[in-house]
Amino acid sequence: MAEEALSEKARRIQELAVQAAPCPACDLAQSRTKVVFGDGNADSPLMLIGEGPGANEDATGLPFVGRAGKLLDECLREAGMLRKHVYITNVVKCRPTLEEMGKIKNRPPRADEIGVCVPLWLEKQIAVIQPSVILCLGAPAANTIIHRNFKMTQERGQWFESKYARYAMAALHPAYILRQEGDAYAQSRQLLIDDLIAARDKAKQAKSEPKMTLF
Ligand code: SF4
Repeated sequence: MAEEALSEKARRIQELAVQAAPCPACDLAQSRTKVVFGDGNADSPLMLIGEGPGANEDATGLPFVGRAGKLLDECLREAGMLRKHVYITNVVKCRPTLEEMGKIKNRPPRADEIGVCVPLWLEKQIAVIQPSVILCLGAPAANTIIHRNFKMTQERGQWFESKYARYAMAALHPAYILRQEGDAYAQSRQLLIDDLIAARDKAKQAKSEPKMTLF
């Protein structure tokens, strides 16, 4: 079967991913297995941005695989979308870890790691994709894309302007939802579905608005 031709954006994203693969620019390069650049549809108007890869992502080189990724896929489906309808990436492209009682665990990326990685790779990804809507998954992404000291409990689900996209909003990170139990789990899962639906609808709305390049 003939290979489908890549769109111009997909080709440029692929080139950036090749350039990023050996990136040595911050300390996370020492412990990573793979740079996790991004996945999905480079031509989508909707970009989802999480905080950083975990163990499964580090092993496979794909964002949001493992339990959190499975939950994200379920919520996308319930919001009427598939992974191929959106572009998914993280603020930092290599897994941040810490050692606790002899075990290697995930940790949120530090400000210095974000400060190095974002201009090198995320800003270039956004400049190629030019999403009209960015949905930040978790506070580290919202701090980077929307504003510093983002308060997830108060500001989740609200629309903001961002220099990176016409519309930006923050939703709960699937890994956070997985740590909830009982009603809290069901409620936070539903919030993520609601935010994905709102982001999908906003992307549709933005299509009919005059085109503006903010970044
Ligand atoms: S986290 Fe980003 S800046 Fe640091 S090594 Fe990985 S790709 Fe390079």
